Amino acid sequence: MNEILKLKDKELLEKFGDLVREEKEATASVVAHLAEIDRRRLYALEGYSSLFSYCVEKFHYSESEAFLRIQAARLVHTSPEVIGLLEDNKATLTTLKLIAPHITSQNKEKIFKEVEHKTKRETEQLVATLFPSEEVKDTIRKLPQTAQNLTRSGTSTLVKKEASQKGPEIPQKSLALSDTSRSRYVSGKIKQVIWKRDEGQCSYVSPEGKHCGEKNFLEMDHVHPFALGGDSTIENLRLLCRTHNQWRSEKTFRLQY
Ligand SMILES: [Zn+2]
Repeated sequence: MNEILKLKDKELLEKFGDLVREEKEATASVVAHLAEIDRRRLYALEGYSSLFSYCVEKFHYSESEAFLRIQAARLVHTSPEVIGLLEDNKATLTTLKLIAPHITSQNKEKIFKEVEHKTKRETEQLVATLFPSEEVKDTIRKLPQTAQNLTRSGTSTLVKKEASQKGPEIPQKSLALSDTSRSRYVSGKIKQVIWKRDEGQCSYVSPEGKHCGEKNFLEMDHVHPFALGGDSTIENLRLLCRTHNQWRSEKTFRLQY
């Protein structure tokens, strides 16, 4: 701070201009990297059930800061030119948020051009003019809900419902599958034991030791995959959230085939 106090007026203004440019470039770079992390689902590797929790829990972005960056990053998947708009200060995260729900491959060139250097209010007016009949979509709010919808499956509901039912303690010995033929079926009693053992949360732990701990939309996972010979035994079963179950499955079978 002392250094700033010593700056002459002209130097102070020039320095501020430089810093703003650096800030815009850094934001664009953050969004570009986040898009690639999202594409590779590296937040799952790191022990998070969503890109949102990765941003908020690991990097301490506020919810709104995380949503803005995630929404811009998701727009990058189909419109990589938004990185240039951010770098050149032609669009902000907020204006991108406003136009994101309306962008298509057919209209994006026109909209990106029209939104250049517009304020939030001007962009809202532009959207209202271009898409008068469309309901205003607040996709920021929908991001976590989307994740929840993706994870809402019959299996997970079943796991939670059955496992949360209180019942008598069951000796582990009696839970071993006596049937020699392999079956993907997992009885309610076994689910109950696994639910209790894993404390009703995703058991994934990252290479750095980050425990996911997601408590919603959990699924039963075979540690050694069933398709590769794994059995439906207590030792070979665990709770994973939908994100980690999918990610782990994709990773396993990408390596296998
Ligand atoms: Zn998880």
